[in-house]
Amino acid sequence: MKNIAIDGPAGAGKSTAAKIVAKKLGILYLDTGAMYRAIGFKALKQSLDTKNSQQIESILKDTSVEIKYIDGVQNIFLDGENITQYIRQNDVSMAASDVSAIPAVRIKLVEIQREIAKNNDCILDGRDIGTYVLPNAKYKFYITATAEERAKRRYKELSEKGQNISFEEVLQNIIVRDKNDSEREFAPLKKADDAYEFDTTTMSIDDVVKELLSKIK
Ligand code: C5P
Repeated sequence: MKNIAIDGPAGAGKSTAAKIVAKKLGILYLDTGAMYRAIGFKALKQSLDTKNSQQIESILKDTSVEIKYIDGVQNIFLDGENITQYIRQNDVSMAASDVSAIPAVRIKLVEIQREIAKNNDCILDGRDIGTYVLPNAKYKFYITATAEERAKRRYKELSEKGQNISFEEVLQNIIVRDKNDSEREFAPLKKADDAYEFDTTTMSIDDVVKELLSKIK
C-alpha cells in the first residue's frame, strides 16, 4: 500500500493540505489527532485527571474508538457515538496532548492506524507517523510554521466555528502542546531522518499542496 506521512506541530497546515492532496490522489485521509482527541474527550467527560496514567489506563479497555467515512469525510466514533463535532475545542486539544503522552493510549491507537494504513492507500497526519507509526511510509513530510502563525490560523478556525476564545489563549495552548508533544518519552513529535521538511509560515494552502504534490510521484 502507498502511504504518505505528514508530521508537524499543531496548525502547521497538515490537515487542510492533506485533505486536498488525498482528494487529488483519490486516496484516504486519516487525521490521527482525532483519535487522541476522542480519548481526551472521554477523560474530560468522566472528570478524570488527563495526566494521570492510572486513571486513563483504567478506561482504555472499555473504550472503543472507530473511524468511519461518511460521504468521504472522516467521522470519529467513541463507544459507538459520533463525537466528530465535539472534539475541536481548546480544552479537548489540551486533554488530547496530555493523554497522548501515556504509552498505553498510543499503543491502542497506533494499532488502529496501522490497520487502516495496511488496507488502504492513504495519507496520515500526526506527530509520529514517519518516525513510529509507519517508518516505511513511501513519502514522509515534516511541516512547520512559527508558533504565532500557527496560532493565527487556529484562532481564525475556532472563531469561524463560533468559539469564544482569545488569540492569547490559542497561542498558549499551541506553545504548551508543542512542548508536551516534543518532550514526551514515547513517540514524540519529531522529524524522521528521511522526511522532507518545509516551513509553511509564508505559504498559502495552495502552495503547501503544490509542494507536497511536487514530491509525490
Ligand atoms: O493533530 P491534532 O492537533 O488534532 O492532535 C491533537 C493532539 O493529539 C496533539 O497535540 C498530540 O498531543 C496528539 N497527537 C499525537 N500523535 C498523533 C496525532 C496527535 O500525539 N499522531
